[in-house]
Amino acid sequence: MSVSAPAQTQGIVVRFAPSPTGKMHIGSARTALFNWLYAKHTGGQFLLRIEDTDSERSTPENTQYIFEAMNWLGLESDREPLIQSTQLENHKQAAQKLIASGAAFVDEEGVTRFKVPEGAVHWTDLVQGDITIESKQIEPFALLRSDGTPTYHLGVVCDDITQGVTHIIRGDDHINNTPKQILLYRALGAKVPEFGHIPLILSESGEKLSKRHGAISVQELRDAGYLPQGLFNFLLRLGWGHADQEIFTREDAIAAFDIHAVSKGASRFDTSKLNWFNAQYLKSLPFTEVKPHLLAFLPDAAQTHPADFKKLEFMWADFTTRAQTLPEIADAARYLLADVTESYTEEHTAILLEAHHLLHDVYDTFSAVTEWNAEILHQVIANLVQHHGGSFKTVGRPLRVAITAQLGGPDMSRIMAALGQNECLRRLKVALHHVHQNGGHHH
Ligand code: GLU
Repeated sequence: MSVSAPAQTQGIVVRFAPSPTGKMHIGSARTALFNWLYAKHTGGQFLLRIEDTDSERSTPENTQYIFEAMNWLGLESDREPLIQSTQLENHKQAAQKLIASGAAFVDEEGVTRFKVPEGAVHWTDLVQGDITIESKQIEPFALLRSDGTPTYHLGVVCDDITQGVTHIIRGDDHINNTPKQILLYRALGAKVPEFGHIPLILSESGEKLSKRHGAISVQELRDAGYLPQGLFNFLLRLGWGHADQEIFTREDAIAAFDIHAVSKGASRFDTSKLNWFNAQYLKSLPFTEVKPHLLAFLPDAAQTHPADFKKLEFMWADFTTRAQTLPEIADAARYLLADVTESYTEEHTAILLEAHHLLHDVYDTFSAVTEWNAEILHQVIANLVQHHGGSFKTVGRPLRVAITAQLGGPDMSRIMAALGQNECLRRLKVALHHVHQNGGHHH
């Protein structure tokens, strides 16, 4: 496809054009999200372009990071992604065309430069409003380097023309590039697209967001245990709002998204807000939707054990009411998936020792239960409590320690129902053995 024959497109076409120079920064992810939402809201197309012409910093691995992050966030390109390095001939042809028409010239060092016409460049930015730049502020910028390779300005404009892009939504660090690019569109005889420049995301304390602020790439946030749904909603609300609504499904977000409502001021990355969104999705999504994301955080053996998933699913609401991230759930659910009787602490041992006289009765009582479910177990525990003096703690605490190696957590009757009778009896037996080994028989 040549630059002089722009793609015939109907309606709105937007693109996300990252340079594959590292993991995907959340600022880039938000730019991608706003483009995607704008396309979906208007019934247009969302395109991906990989700007890989900086051969020193662009690597195939970094390109994979982009595909991976886009895929994880569910921001699919409506066409095959365009790889910028395949378009170099096209860029060079455009430069020749500009030289031929007198819009560009080759300087003494052999650099092809754009001849900036007099006057001013004006555009109405979709986010920032009216912007006017005087031509005398624009230098005769390079189009081809002396070695003949195209510059960013030439490449980006040619590719946007080739892809039929109608709206360019990108970070406001590109505002200074826009007047140059508008002049290039005109000189190439192409329709100038609309532009919208979205403000940067700053750190909580208002600095430029960088590695020292912790997890700031999509991959790092995924690995820290955030759900794509949580990150999607968090990014959406960074600099964009709709009345006082916080939670948006993908469908809600598509219906409500309005590029004109994006704030002109920088927004701040607020980890507690991200945690809050993630917690909302952990609570509201069905287990089956969270499960694929949870797998990586579970102990290896549990990952392939269908029985373990049944236990987790049974107790899902018990865990999600208390957790903000996936590793918190994996950690809290450890006693469902692993034999925690090997990890009794000194404090646990002391609690078991103090209760050793009733643990035999607890064991015998649970052995005699014939129907094993949470309601019945609740009643069995209540009876045991009554029998052993009436305080719940007297029975509940050693029982919890014996079975979960924890001091707190969800309702014991639910935990025991999830684990099943055999496993509960086995753990009680281990706890009794542990007590005896630690001197319980002397009491
Ligand atoms: N490749 C450029 C970047 O990653 C974006 C170009 C553009 O959006 O116009 O900053």
